[in-house]
Amino acid sequence: MGGRSAPPARERRARTGPAQRATVRSAEPAASTRSASASLAKAREQRASGRRREPGATGRATGRATTDVSTAGGRCLDPDLRLAARDAKPAGTVVEVRGVRIGGPGVVIIAGPCAVESETQLLAAARAVKAGGGSVLRGGAFKPRTSPYSFRGLELEGLRLLALARAETGLPVVTEVMDARHLEQVMACADILQVGSRNMQNFTLLEEVGRCRVPVLLKRGMSATLAEYLLAAEHVMKGGNGQVILCERGIRTFEPSTRYTLDLGAVPMLKRHTHLPVIVDPSHGTGVAWMVPPLACAAIAAGADGLLIEVHGDPARALSDGGQSLSHGEFAALMPKLAAVAAAIGRSLA
Ligand code: PEP
Ligand code: MN
Repeated sequence: MGGRSAPPARERRARTGPAQRATVRSAEPAASTRSASASLAKAREQRASGRRREPGATGRATGRATTDVSTAGGRCLDPDLRLAARDAKPAGTVVEVRGVRIGGPGVVIIAGPCAVESETQLLAAARAVKAGGGSVLRGGAFKPRTSPYSFRGLELEGLRLLALARAETGLPVVTEVMDARHLEQVMACADILQVGSRNMQNFTLLEEVGRCRVPVLLKRGMSATLAEYLLAAEHVMKGGNGQVILCERGIRTFEPSTRYTLDLGAVPMLKRHTHLPVIVDPSHGTGVAWMVPPLACAAIAAGADGLLIEVHGDPARALSDGGQSLSHGEFAALMPKLAAVAAAIGRSLA
């Protein structure tokens, strides 16, 4: 042993355990690794001082104080929340599309079919949404489907039909953009770009929509913590697009009786920690049409700024998500109940 020379500094670091690292920290790193080492060192220092935690990490794991959820202000869900945190804009963000204000005192009802299927289907739905008092029309032209054999949307033809429905009813349109390559075409007919649950952490897509100056409806990833969710919004905002609308749409839990578990606790938590508008999608959140009305009411009671509801003229024949879609009649019957709940908490429907 005594005759062997000491390994180079880098190798020594690799061989030593955490307890020994302090003794080798002063070794000069190779020039090529200097900047990487510097950012690693900064990250370590931030972690040690509690300023940076991995989202979802508990205080117990680090032996430091847990996230203080009682603190309004925003950055306590994650210290990297610079633009999305409530304290960055305490008055709150209002996203305005064609005169509809999302995030203001009025509760905005967004409704329409899961997928655009035909001109007749979409125009009938758009008229039902308008007649019922909805403010924004939804409809998927590009559909993310679990099975590649399911109906995946009419794509460009679907966009054309959405533009037609918007022209006829005057309702602003929200539709999903799944791929940055379609952005220009989607933007031509959409007033709001939807980024779906499955793409919540598609960081290149987030970056692309962050470059746009069109509002983004960012759905919560089905397995995302609220910190991860807000960091996804931060990605969009960092690109210069501050018009982000958040949408709780249910998360995966151990409960199999509903499609997802609608996390209504997310609403007050998000409202406390971010200035962005928060809406709720009780259709995907439950997967069951009969549960949509009670949870839509509950979402408004919990403080949601709006709802995203799937409606279809003939749910039994819908090409996607018929089981969770309200018929036009059910939608019409729900709207006065939503208005009553909004009034009970001092709000009204937008
Ligand atoms: C949708 O809104 O039709 C949709 C696919 O939603 P999510 O991304 O929440 O599943
Ligand atoms: Mn759907």
